[in-house]
Amino acid sequence: MSVANKKIELCQICRHEYTSLHVEAMPGIKIYVCDDCLEAARYNFIWICMNCGKVHIRNKKLVLARIKNMELKTAYIMCEGMQIIQGIDMCIKCDPQGILLYMDLEKFPEC
Ligand SMILES: [Zn+2]
Ligand SMILES: [Zn+2]
Repeated sequence: MSVANKKIELCQICRHEYTSLHVEAMPGIKIYVCDDCLEAARYNFIWICMNCGKVHIRNKKLVLARIKNMELKTAYIMCEGMQIIQGIDMCIKCDPQGILLYMDLEKFPEC
């Protein structure tokens, strides 16, 4: 039996804990996440920039309160309680205009 698939990597969210847990942030892209960060994902949306690796964590309730697009809002409300860790192509640091369209928020706050 190989133990190669029990790889331990640094958590890519907090960059603090080592973990063998991972989620698929984007099709085919694995993100290593520790228990604590996975727990945090219940109450927060966690976006990780695939371009610079920066992690953006936002309280779900605050995010939902800001979304005006009803379709998007409904989609996000259905995700409440789910652990969402989502890869994004560009974050606000990489593409300040693009992120606004992506999130459909009036202003995506800085970390
Ligand atoms: Zn972590
Ligand atoms: Zn970025």
